[in-house]
Amino acid sequence: MEKNKLQLAQEKLKSIYGYDQFRDGQRVIIEQVLEGIDTIGIMPTGGGKSLCYQIPALVLPGVTLVISPLISLMKDQVDALNELNIPATYLNSTLSASEESTRQSRIKEGHYKLVYVAPERLNHPSFQHLLEHISLSLVAIDEAHCMSQWGHDFRPSYLSVSSWLDELSQKVTVLALTATATKQVCFDLQQFLHIDQQNVITTGFERTNLTFQVKKGVSKQKFMSSFLAARKNESGIIYASTRKEVEQIFDELASKGFDVACYHGGMSESQRSANQEAFIHDEAKIIVATNAFGMGIDKSNVRYILHYNLPRTIEAYYQEAGRAGRDGEASDCVLLFSPQDVRTQSFLIEQSDRTDDRMEMEYKKLQQMTGFCHTERCLQQYILHYFGEDTNKTCGKCSNCVQAGEKVDRTKEAQMVFSTVKRVRERFGKTMIAQILVGSSNQKIKQLQLNDVSTYGLMKDWTQKDVAEFIDILMAEEYLRATGTSYPTIQLTEKTLPVLKGEEQLFITETLAPAEPQEQDDV
Ligand code: ADP
Repeated sequence: MEKNKLQLAQEKLKSIYGYDQFRDGQRVIIEQVLEGIDTIGIMPTGGGKSLCYQIPALVLPGVTLVISPLISLMKDQVDALNELNIPATYLNSTLSASEESTRQSRIKEGHYKLVYVAPERLNHPSFQHLLEHISLSLVAIDEAHCMSQWGHDFRPSYLSVSSWLDELSQKVTVLALTATATKQVCFDLQQFLHIDQQNVITTGFERTNLTFQVKKGVSKQKFMSSFLAARKNESGIIYASTRKEVEQIFDELASKGFDVACYHGGMSESQRSANQEAFIHDEAKIIVATNAFGMGIDKSNVRYILHYNLPRTIEAYYQEAGRAGRDGEASDCVLLFSPQDVRTQSFLIEQSDRTDDRMEMEYKKLQQMTGFCHTERCLQQYILHYFGEDTNKTCGKCSNCVQAGEKVDRTKEAQMVFSTVKRVRERFGKTMIAQILVGSSNQKIKQLQLNDVSTYGLMKDWTQKDVAEFIDILMAEEYLRATGTSYPTIQLTEKTLPVLKGEEQLFITETLAPAEPQEQDDV
């Protein structure tokens, strides 16, 4: 490629943004775009996706169109660019007719290098008309996973983007950007945008400045209070799964004198945006929010993300957690786990109006999310593995890496669990398997004659709860899988057989010592 375009890009990086070097992946994506190659860029949240289209916009002739779902943030994004002296504007439904027409005229006159629009606008007659008068070089599709039904944030309005591009009368370069790297989403984007595998640029998904922690069996309220008390001067986001919970946490923190704001879909637009602004400008140190908050917000000094409840998918979790430490400084991502949250999410999936396939997929994703809370592996490694990036490297600082405890050989107990699953022909769920193993005298066990299974009572020294937790670990490590929807049954996987045959041993970090024999919980 012409060397000077890339050089020019490098100069803009320094002179406008003040950065010395492109990050991993940014350079390759920008090179491709400057060469006119349609590209899909996949980078984690905080990885630096915006520069991948902003810099080419400044180097290429004509206008760069940025398609973004974030109407409420377009103004902020454009203001931030204008502060850097980058000529940018946006067109969306918040503008008055006269303002819109002034902007359209200025776009035609070539005043702007970047124009942000929402997907709904693309087929608008006035916008079509505008396009006839301007020369587009690049179309950047931000949050491109919104195009895929398999993404965690599908937006029907994004469906029109690919046909709009197909019908466009000018030749433009397309750059789709997302932090969602699942195969299914990537495959959809490639199909919609006709982009070859070789032009899918995925950067490393590791976020080395983040420390992940999962807290199980703690009182969430107490944990939160002491966690926040130690961080009074730091900015952070607390995510909860329902509006009600957001309000409860907000009330509690406000009554304790914390500098806090809240954000959820049930609030008025103006209230939400006032609270968002307060957080962005450090007037409120903490924001308690549902997952409606955060997409597209570039606040660099968020020092922690506290998940009060379990998110539904690893994609959503990593996107939310990734909002910490955009400035590269050390930051914490803490997830408070309670089994009730898994039930709540299952219930929400069950209630949703989804096809069976879709529902099964949602349950699987939830199971993988739950696995994050039970795994013994390095938490960063678990996430990377989920996104298809296999590595043996451990982060050395997540709650699993620093967990004190001894590795104990649990091959024998794992074999007992696997044999039980096999003997009941993979027809029962976790509770039943645990009840058989501890020798429960539950009515249902008797009715189904499960007390005749040869492994009945083999783990009678364990509590039912501990066996269930052990099964959770075996699932998180993929020795077992749960299939089905609301009442998942436990099945063996390809990893099970070597352990069952005694060819491989299975070690668990012991925090799960067999409890003193006690009354079984036969509920
Ligand atoms: P994303 O959209 O991928 O979540 P952003 O584009 O908002 O991430 O970038 C995250 C942060 O990283 C921003 O504060 C941005 O200014 C900064 N950043 C981006 N590229 C670089 C770079 N090459 N060097 C240093 N900082 C960068």
